[in-house]
Amino acid sequence: MTTTPTAGTDLRTGLALRGVTLGYPDGESRLIALDEVELAVAPGEFTAIAGPSGSGKSSLLAVAATLLRPDRGEVLVDGVDAGALDERERTALRRERLGIVFQQSNLLASLTAVEQLLVLESVRGRRPARARTRAEELLESVGLAGAKQRRRPHQLSGGERQRVNIARALFGSPSVLLVDEPTSALDHERGAQVVDLLAEVTRTHRTATVMVTHDRELLGRADRVLTMQDGRLRA
Ligand code: ADP
Ligand code: MG
Repeated sequence: MTTTPTAGTDLRTGLALRGVTLGYPDGESRLIALDEVELAVAPGEFTAIAGPSGSGKSSLLAVAATLLRPDRGEVLVDGVDAGALDERERTALRRERLGIVFQQSNLLASLTAVEQLLVLESVRGRRPARARTRAEELLESVGLAGAKQRRRPHQLSGGERQRVNIARALFGSPSVLLVDEPTSALDHERGAQVVDLLAEVTRTHRTATVMVTHDRELLGRADRVLTMQDGRLRA
């Protein structure tokens, strides 16, 4: 019997990808972006995936985020097979269990930091006062306290904007946190601080965290490092 990265792990919690294969149309043929990817990440575990540009890292996160459907294989979120859900159920799964920090910050220019989180509340229905308290506490926990919470994106530094993105991803209490190249716009020190923060929130929020990066210097902070090469994932 061969051992895979998912062998012997509990697939009922956290994130699991099994035999995930994804191609994009490429002229007459298909470009294989993900090739039989196996991955299991447990709650409270911080997994980093390194690999050169074009190796399939963002594709892997898009599939794990249930934004792209793989050609073959399964994506399990807390044991729920995303491929077996209809569109409405998949949207609910994303909202309830997935936190996503994309490579390009998609903060809304007109909203303050605290409003970036509260805008999500309209689809959730917590009581407004409680939601605001939670948003403020979360922002404080990622290092944005006081007046900074009332600043708009252009009044924050790149590192601070990334902290807002992380707080926003945590707002729905996700089981799985997916983070794409969080440090690409930051200098080394700020980048290291953001990765330290991801390690910390993984412990405190017990998320199954996957961070992808092409910056090998930041990998020491992860519990486990995997390498992506030509759509294949290896230890
Ligand atoms: P990475 O994030 O590691 O840079 P990507 O997952 O973005 O890699 O891309 C993997 C491969 O798939 C690359 O060869 C890229 O050009 C190709 N690719 C990515 N997105 C698309 C798309 N929407 N259509 C066609 N090819 C794509
Ligand atoms: Mg990418």
